Amino acid sequence: MRTLRFMEDLLAIEAETKFLLAAGDRSYEQKLMQELLRIFKEAELKFGPRDDSYQLSVPRITECASSRTYILRPLRMTRIYLSRESRIKPWLASLELAHEAIHVLSPIGFGGGPTILEEGLAECFAQRYVSRVHGMEFERGSNPKADAVMQAVSTLLAKNDSVIKVLRTRQPVISKIDEKLLVEVAGIKLSEAKFLCTDFRSYWRTQSPWSGFATQGAERLAACLRSIWK
Ligand SMILES: [Zn+2]
Repeated sequence: MRTLRFMEDLLAIEAETKFLLAAGDRSYEQKLMQELLRIFKEAELKFGPRDDSYQLSVPRITECASSRTYILRPLRMTRIYLSRESRIKPWLASLELAHEAIHVLSPIGFGGGPTILEEGLAECFAQRYVSRVHGMEFERGSNPKADAVMQAVSTLLAKNDSVIKVLRTRQPVISKIDEKLLVEVAGIKLSEAKFLCTDFRSYWRTQSPWSGFATQGAERLAACLRSIWK
């Protein structure tokens, strides 16, 4: 039942994007795919192999306000959808691709959402990638909750750059890495580990909407889905 709903949602989005696509966008999407493959090379080097039982589809540009990823578990397919603004802002396209790439690295099973660890890792990785490739700088401080996520993940990575890669040899799915494993492998405090293993969406839900670079959350996701069917 849930699968069916999901498939219907996907078809709706597919149809919508096809309708909105101009001819020139097709070659742009191919360029995005090339960049995505380069991003995966880098991400795999840093965080371990992608679950390649899932097929990668060419990224699509949408009229949505934010990017997101659809994972079709029964068909083992994934597709990244970029925001409308990414079309005119190359740095934003890169940011969204790099962020979503982390969610595609190890898709979560049914009934699970990303943890703070996965969401923070996605945004940290994406910001670093964009800083390097486009020479952009990202500021903190516009939202305490987002800052806490970024800070927790930065601290974890600063201690040991290859910690995610090592963790994933024990638990390949990033959002299934639990606090026990984090304490054991990363040597962090239990309270820090508990925070990182918290469900990101429930953490974010108590958040008032805001704008900024790091707003890759459930709020924007919901806003985006609303805009498509309005
Ligand atoms: Zn995300």
